[in-house]
Amino acid sequence: MSSSVLAPPRRPEIKTELPGPNGKKIIEADAKFVTPSYPRPDFKLVAERASGVWVEDVDGNIFLDCNAGVAVCSTGHCHPDVVKAIQDQAEQLIHMCGTDYYYRHMPQLAEKLDAIVPVQSPTKTHFANSGTEAVETALKLAMHATGRDKFIAFFNSFHGRTLGSLSLTSSKAAQRRGFKRQALDVVHVPYPNEFRNPFNEADCGDGGAAQGALNWIEERLFKTTTPPDEVAGIVVEAVQGEGGYVPAPKGFLQGLRRICDQHGIMLIIDEVQSGMGRTGKMFASDHYDVQADIVCIAKGIGSGLPIGACVARADIMDWKPGAHASTFGGNPVCIAAALKTIELLEGGLVQNSAEVGAYLKAGLEKLKTKYDCIGDVRGMGLMIGVEFVENKTSLKPAPELRDRIEIACFDRGLIILGCGNNAIRWSPPLILTKENVDVALEIFDEAIAASL
Ligand code: PLP
Repeated sequence: MSSSVLAPPRRPEIKTELPGPNGKKIIEADAKFVTPSYPRPDFKLVAERASGVWVEDVDGNIFLDCNAGVAVCSTGHCHPDVVKAIQDQAEQLIHMCGTDYYYRHMPQLAEKLDAIVPVQSPTKTHFANSGTEAVETALKLAMHATGRDKFIAFFNSFHGRTLGSLSLTSSKAAQRRGFKRQALDVVHVPYPNEFRNPFNEADCGDGGAAQGALNWIEERLFKTTTPPDEVAGIVVEAVQGEGGYVPAPKGFLQGLRRICDQHGIMLIIDEVQSGMGRTGKMFASDHYDVQADIVCIAKGIGSGLPIGACVARADIMDWKPGAHASTFGGNPVCIAAALKTIELLEGGLVQNSAEVGAYLKAGLEKLKTKYDCIGDVRGMGLMIGVEFVENKTSLKPAPELRDRIEIACFDRGLIILGCGNNAIRWSPPLILTKENVDVALEIFDEAIAASL
């Protein structure tokens, strides 16, 4: 971006139709040679370069990015300290294969994770390259540690698209259609979404949706299809991400912890999207004061470099050489990016996520009172969901309106992305400022008005 680092723009600058002529050529080539299975939204961003919260496309249009490459660029695009850490490391050692050889980076990051993850220390870490691989590791580890093979997961969850994690994933039919029988023995439970409580009063008692879900597991599953002594793990997102940015209600994760303790089941918390400062604490689990047996991390930990980690209690991760490994997982360059990312998060960005997130949420709450079509504003830190409905009386989901708003934002230079059936997610870089929020909210307001 020509003027970006020294003098970032204050507002988006849209100079061509979208996509512009250069963008169109790339999209055509993409359609010819690249898999059509990527779930790309209706708007088409063809990125050329990015810095901080600003993304420039191949036609010179500049966008304010409130999605961060789907909750990945936690420190902002191309943070100069992260770029330097990557460059320095690339000059020293790019790859050695940590499965067969040693280098200092692996224990360094694993020790750092031991200090910050919501798992009782001492922990051990297995390194991978993506979220889905971190989840695969967790599944194998839980089976290995318990000698059991059943899992409990939640509807509307997203844990990845490789066959093991796909057995858990259940946020859209397209993710599973064509792939037949699920690879693992997984039973799904409705997620305790407080805005759309899926449980009846008898299930909930006076404990709300959280109690409904816990009772479902204990009173239905355990007593019918899924005896607890056959369950290896319960896999849960502390905040459902792809499923609609739905935070777990109070008491739910602790209830799962109790059930797992009672029956020797592994509590696996997937923090791939909600971790690394996104919710205004280092991990979403920290809001609930709960510790998992196994935690999955990816996305924001590498500021854009591919790295996933599965961190588990050391006494659980006692499998033998050969049980699980990855050629590229935990490569030195990715770890250098991760260590710098964590330093920046601890040095102020987690705090910024909490403060600017509260400011953004307050602004969105105001829009909720202005527009009958905003049914719910929810979330913590800079992980905020806005759910669109036909009106506040019916609360009927309005997915087409959501899609129109997403496009109207893009046309005005604001990148936001849908999630779930009818929600928009706000997952900007954690360097977002209040001034950026003011600009983003002004555009969002205009886009909603233009889309009704
Ligand atoms: N788990 C969660 C909670 C996610 O949000 C995602 C991706 O969106 C994944 C796992 C899978 O991560 P990846 O796409 O890196 O495989």
